[in-house]
Amino acid sequence: MCPGSDIALATNAASPPLGQPPLAELVEDAARTPLRANATEPDPPDDEQPLYAARQKIYPQHVTGTFRRVKWLVLFITLGIYYLLPFVRWDRGPNAPSQAVLIDFPNRRFYFFFIEIWPQEVYYLTGLLILAAMALFLMNAIAGRVWCGYLCPQTVWTDLFQAIERWTEGDRREHLQRDRQPWTVDRLARAGTKHFFWLMIAWWTGGAWVLYFADAPTIVRDLATFQAPLIAYVFIGLLTFTTYTLAGWMREQVCVYMCPWPRIQAALTDEYALNVTYRYDRGEPRASLKKAAALHEQGLPAGDCIDCLQCVHVCPTGVDIRNGSELGCIQCGLCIDACDAVMQKIGRPSRLIAYDTDVNIKRRQQGQRPIYRIVRTRTALYAVIIALVGAVMTYTLATRRNDGVSVIHDRNPLFVRLSDGSLRNAFAVRILNKTLETKSFALKVSGLADAEVDVIGSAARSGGNPIIEVGPDQSREVRVLVTAHQRLVPGASIPLTFTIAPETGGNAASAGDHFLGP
Ligand code: SF4
Ligand code: SF4
Repeated sequence: MCPGSDIALATNAASPPLGQPPLAELVEDAARTPLRANATEPDPPDDEQPLYAARQKIYPQHVTGTFRRVKWLVLFITLGIYYLLPFVRWDRGPNAPSQAVLIDFPNRRFYFFFIEIWPQEVYYLTGLLILAAMALFLMNAIAGRVWCGYLCPQTVWTDLFQAIERWTEGDRREHLQRDRQPWTVDRLARAGTKHFFWLMIAWWTGGAWVLYFADAPTIVRDLATFQAPLIAYVFIGLLTFTTYTLAGWMREQVCVYMCPWPRIQAALTDEYALNVTYRYDRGEPRASLKKAAALHEQGLPAGDCIDCLQCVHVCPTGVDIRNGSELGCIQCGLCIDACDAVMQKIGRPSRLIAYDTDVNIKRRQQGQRPIYRIVRTRTALYAVIIALVGAVMTYTLATRRNDGVSVIHDRNPLFVRLSDGSLRNAFAVRILNKTLETKSFALKVSGLADAEVDVIGSAARSGGNPIIEVGPDQSREVRVLVTAHQRLVPGASIPLTFTIAPETGGNAASAGDHFLGP
């Protein structure tokens, strides 16, 4: 019998909170059921642990509490955004797509509400990646693997799949018992229902992904009538398979063996980062209530942990947090909820497991007050970098030009001598028009006195300068010939400035290159 069973009977008289099984049941369950499905032998010592261990099925128990509620909230918000965002519309005018978030590969554009990113502006993506990395580092410095526990897609989808598993196959004890029975129609029906819903979610996950790459209502209609491009069906199939496999079958194996972040975050953390911690200063030596009372009668100490294993049974990765932090612990806080419920039932203070630090445990053991250092050098540094990168990105977006020009000198030949002795250089000039109207630009080349400038395929001129028309939300590349009639020194390389000025007025944009001589 479990060491906690006697005290459980003693405390069973207290009414459990609504929806919670009585403590006696919980403790008996702890005695009856192994932590994992096929755990028959104790784990080997740390230095004898294999590099890879085959997955042992985990049956996480339903739990209620603060952290569970936070996880549900995050799950609904993140999945709601993922599935519904492609259907949000954003009016950009007649010549632009009306989807709020769209990755338009054919036209090489990324649309995010009022922001439109061109391929030439890929540095915004770099800025976003820096911001995301710094935010992850900051989260890690403040509260450990909070990303893993609440926000990581693997965690969110696994959480959803586990909820469906509990709904179809029963909570931990019922599911364990059913798995020990031979296959029956009922068991087959339950398992079939579970896999059906898993596949539906996985399929919709893949389906939502492709909606970000084309007009969502159109692609939904094309998919339904089998008129969508083949690549759309390929990606839906691929993501259906990966979601079903990773969230349904592999689960914590992804965190332990596939994901690099647990290893990286371990190198980025310090002793003041808050982590889900078993307060062993308070919990040890663990003993049942009855045993604790006997120990106290003898003048011996007993901790608050009654060894009921509730913290382990609710853990989605099968970790016993009382053994200290380990790779499998995604810091989801569900063991805090489970232990708090137990503490409430036996009338002891909550937060035997809590977000805390080993530093504080040591301080409490020495009779000192715990300290919480959210503001430290590393958190301040990450926050400053986030603020700086954010400010630079905001400034560049706010002062972003609606046009632009770039120039590339012809590589071969570098110059041509004409029959009258003058020299000609050719350039590829690309002009960007990010507005939603056709615009005309006057091209001026300065740096070479008396130079003659011609645009191939465009005879229009204004004030002696060639005029180039560029369609709405387009870029246009033209070949520009610059002819020098003056005699140049041998090996000449004369800096040129190519300036485009909108005919309707506004600031001019310019780019530089060189005129090369023999
Ligand atoms: S830490 Fe809490 S939930 Fe875990 S075994 Fe001890 S009393 Fe039970
Ligand atoms: S040990 Fe606790 S915090 Fe860690 S994964 Fe398990 S339930 Fe979550």
